[in-house]
Amino acid sequence: MSRPDHRPIRQLTPLAVHERDLETCTFCPKLCRSACPVSNAEPRETLTPWGKMSLVNHLAHGDVPLDAAHAHPAWACTGCGRCTTRCDHEIQVGAVLCDARAELDKAGLAPAALDGIEQRVDAVEESMRLAVHELSNEAAFDASSAHAILVGCSYHRHAQDEARLALRVVHALTGERHRVVSSCCGASLSDAGKPAQAAAKGAALASRLAGITSLVVVDAGCAYHLITQTPAGLPTPVTLVDLASRHLERFSPAPGLGEEPVRWHDPCRLGRGLGQYEAPRHVLARILGRSPDEFADRREQSLCSGAGGLLPITFPEAASAAAGRRLDEHSELGGGRVVTACASSLRTFRKAGADAEDIVRWMARSLGVERV
Ligand code: SF4
Ligand code: SF4
Repeated sequence: MSRPDHRPIRQLTPLAVHERDLETCTFCPKLCRSACPVSNAEPRETLTPWGKMSLVNHLAHGDVPLDAAHAHPAWACTGCGRCTTRCDHEIQVGAVLCDARAELDKAGLAPAALDGIEQRVDAVEESMRLAVHELSNEAAFDASSAHAILVGCSYHRHAQDEARLALRVVHALTGERHRVVSSCCGASLSDAGKPAQAAAKGAALASRLAGITSLVVVDAGCAYHLITQTPAGLPTPVTLVDLASRHLERFSPAPGLGEEPVRWHDPCRLGRGLGQYEAPRHVLARILGRSPDEFADRREQSLCSGAGGLLPITFPEAASAAAGRRLDEHSELGGGRVVTACASSLRTFRKAGADAEDIVRWMARSLGVERV
């Protein structure tokens, strides 16, 4: 569908490749409006998928001023992909908005909350090097191994125990000692609207890992970024849950299992992003001796935790409200533990007071490597 008085895009011109999608959304009766975790948390028309896409379209056509107020909603997206599942045209709103961020960033219109993001990512990378050094006393650690594990900066910074357990689990499953990657994959810079800088991080990562023969990735966000944009020279990354699902026979019911619910939360970028819905459920079923408990909104319709796409930085109130909605559903269904495979979701749920665990801890319990 296109506007009756069709005029070409005349600013942010690289977005012309998305013109059809932008026009389709602009003239859509907002069929996906109830899908978005951001506009559900902060009910404003401009924050619905329709509102964000229309605003970008109006900016590109020069119908509204090219200023920060009109640019800001492009960052009100976690990239969760839930709107796409409700769209007859399967429009990838998150990807289009990510490209829009890049053009708006070039125009100097990124949110002030992202000022200095490149330096902040460099600082995180430095702290990650120290965190990885802390793991060098593990028997599973070998800095010169041809097998690598990328745990993810959010685990190293906010869930160090889980980072350690991930290394032990991969060792237990494969029998191989692993080097632990301390380089940034570039996902945060991509979300920030800095694709060139993100690609440079990816290239540096591939250069540091030259010669490796396998790469396991723990965090769902890093895995999605690296699997969909694998830097030249890297072997195709494998997620930890995928690896674990290939070794199901190694898992048996974990000791001390109680009756309380253990509910699986599909991370958006593992589920809708990579289509890995069965692997974590199969692994948890082996460990629990039964199927994991489920959210009503699950698999393709899973609700986003609000932790992706840098939303906790750009729209912190909407991000915590989105996490609250997810945990409300968890409570209404009987509570218990909520389990995921995404460090950002894990942190968000814990900050909201939930009894949240990472699937890697359950794997470690089952394999007998939780306490060594
Ligand atoms: S993503 Fe699809 S359903 Fe949502 S506003 Fe755009 S065209 Fe409509
Ligand atoms: S990708 Fe997710 S957060 Fe972004 S507009 Fe769609 S539903 Fe909203």
